[in-house]
Amino acid sequence: MEEKTAAQQLRDKLLHQKKNGWDVVDEAAEQAIFHYCEGYKIYLDRGKTERTCVEYTVELAKAAGFVALERGMTLTPGMKVYRVNRGRAVNLAVIGSAPLDQGVSIVAAHIDSPRLDLKPTPLYEDSELAFLKTHYYGGIRKYQWVTIPLELRGVVAMKDGSLVSVSVGGHEGDPQFTIDDLLPHLGADQSKKPLGEAIPGESLNILVGSRPLKGDDGAGRVKLAVLKLLHERYGITEADFISAEIEAVPAFNAVDIGFDRSLIGAYGHDDRVCGYAGLKALLDLNGTPCRTAVCVLADKEEIGSEGVSGMQSAFFDTFVSDLCDSQNVPLKTCLEKSFCLSCDVTAAYDPNFAEVYEKNNSAMVNQGVGLCKYTGARGKSGSSDAGAEAVAYVRRLLDDRGILWQMAELGKVDQGGGGTVACYMANRNIDTLDAGVPVLSMHSPFETVSKLDCYMTYAACKAVYEG
Ligand code: MN
Ligand code: MN
Repeated sequence: MEEKTAAQQLRDKLLHQKKNGWDVVDEAAEQAIFHYCEGYKIYLDRGKTERTCVEYTVELAKAAGFVALERGMTLTPGMKVYRVNRGRAVNLAVIGSAPLDQGVSIVAAHIDSPRLDLKPTPLYEDSELAFLKTHYYGGIRKYQWVTIPLELRGVVAMKDGSLVSVSVGGHEGDPQFTIDDLLPHLGADQSKKPLGEAIPGESLNILVGSRPLKGDDGAGRVKLAVLKLLHERYGITEADFISAEIEAVPAFNAVDIGFDRSLIGAYGHDDRVCGYAGLKALLDLNGTPCRTAVCVLADKEEIGSEGVSGMQSAFFDTFVSDLCDSQNVPLKTCLEKSFCLSCDVTAAYDPNFAEVYEKNNSAMVNQGVGLCKYTGARGKSGSSDAGAEAVAYVRRLLDDRGILWQMAELGKVDQGGGGTVACYMANRNIDTLDAGVPVLSMHSPFETVSKLDCYMTYAACKAVYEG
């Protein structure tokens, strides 16, 4: 090895140099990265909606020894507990050896993703074609949701209190659904419209049938034939859509992207890529952590974290408070000492759209988990803007373990912005920092992430739990 020049030594000492993670990781780490991502792809395919994501999460947790938390339970160090919030969100904890007045270490992610929800009166027939009307959920670019295969997943809550699970399009041999678009031959007017206006929300109607009911000459024969099939399969009638939550999500599964298989393309990376990281890190904890480790998988982030299953809900406080009560620790004493990694995706720098990014402060694919001191829009509005001390704490945690990370913000200052659950955790008097996987084509039906970044986010979550 050649001796480093004085200038090179100065470079090493003074400059914050960005590195491609694949140049840094050894062979064992490469194997760990690819292995981890196989589990993640299954998590994506099983959990395309928040409800199915919760179901699979609980399945994995139970297999790892977690039990349902009951109020008044005696909790001893090393115990693993979880609580589901109305089927749509879930909190999990591993009780630490330190008392809860020392705070808890939290990873908070969300498991809802942008999609198309069915309206309460969705089914109609026009020109002997049956459609389902939708109301999109979260920020979507509507033009991306036409002419792709869709599946329907969700539940119908019956008046008798029973819950009927609906899932069509995700199983081998299932029929699937789609939303049609105009042919280019007749698209002259549409093509002149701005991208955001070319596909109006009210035209996102899902094609679900075209065969009329045999022997019937009344109105709406195709619609009636569809209802007949639904009744035969699920025992539901048109009125039951009123108390249903059925989501149209892309019907394709997660796949490797690239000749080198270094990336994953899938629906719902935002934010199950961080949800899985937080969950898997908790499941993989070796022994009893010092501080109690808490994994939050919240719902409704994409529409503002509102509501009973969102991060603003008292469900989280009730969960931690139930843990605290078992040790006679006031909740406020616990929260003020706690730390939260608000684990959510960030935008990956995309050279095809370089004009919206500020390269020095963008998350690059393959440079590791992206830390964000702040999110927000129009001057950090809506962001909790973590304290410098919180950022330093995480820098140390990650550097001590050789976990690859990068500092990032979403894009150019005036281009837009976004939010996460961070502010709702910080509002609870918890030091909180945003961190997550950089994503290409975020919020599209088919988002792309780097396997290395997925794994580094998992490692970061584990570091937070271990403290
Ligand atoms: Mn998100
Ligand atoms: Mn999002």
